[in-house]
Amino acid sequence: MTLKASFTDEVKAELANVQPARPCCQEAELTAMAEALVGASDGAPFTLRIPRNAVARKVVHLAKVAGGRVETVRKGATEKRPSYRLRLTLPSGRGSKDGCCARAILRGTFLARGVLGNPADAYHLEMAVPAGATTLVSSGAARAGIPLKRTTRRGRTVYYLKGAEPISRMLGLMGANRAVMRFENDRILRDMRSQANRRANSETANMDKRLRAALQQRDAIRRLKARDNRLQSLPPALREVAELRLAHPRAGLRELAQVAQVSKSAVANRLRRLVRLANRNGLID
Ligand SMILES: [Zn+2]
Repeated sequence: MTLKASFTDEVKAELANVQPARPCCQEAELTAMAEALVGASDGAPFTLRIPRNAVARKVVHLAKVAGGRVETVRKGATEKRPSYRLRLTLPSGRGSKDGCCARAILRGTFLARGVLGNPADAYHLEMAVPAGATTLVSSGAARAGIPLKRTTRRGRTVYYLKGAEPISRMLGLMGANRAVMRFENDRILRDMRSQANRRANSETANMDKRLRAALQQRDAIRRLKARDNRLQSLPPALREVAELRLAHPRAGLRELAQVAQVSKSAVANRLRRLVRLANRNGLID
């Protein structure tokens, strides 16, 4: 029992049920799957180990319709996740040079080796194939117009794709239509989430700025007051705003303006004067 299927599992389950109708595509997809699993063939039978029932069934089906041969299917019982061992002889053809087969090659390669990040977290797709199995994948990707990049890792050629746009396009080309819908939905959610984060961050920054200014004003007024206990030397308008700021150290300008029954800009102006005054008297550092 799985808790929550990964996006990779979801896409593979969908692709395993996409059956290519043309014989050329059946050959191409089967060959791509086999080569991605064990490397390029020289016509000899392959032994494939496939961790997914639906994919194993697809190999058997494609071999039957495309003129290949599956000799034995054995379910491995020892592993946690059952795997299927089968011995496959490929059909003689490797598909056509048409776009239909390019899509079938991508689909077969992904079914065999694809890993896809959950679109809510990462836009990353990769397929690590044996170093000898790159001819088919590279030509398929080129013909389908998918800008797969490649690197090597532990003796394998890793094809990868980053970015929402190309990944969504590749899913669509392979025929994973439900996955494209989920991908696009998650993509919208993710965009909204990051916009909300950006907004929250800038609100916090503004709040910090306002609060810092308010506390600075309070400090300035405290220093003025330390020198002239009742702020008697200040004009009444300044004195009133000074007392308000001391009484409400965190209040915004608008709140102070409401209490003082003057305009916001008048309050701002008086607070500026108080800070300047404290500075001029060398009372603020
Ligand atoms: Zn085809």
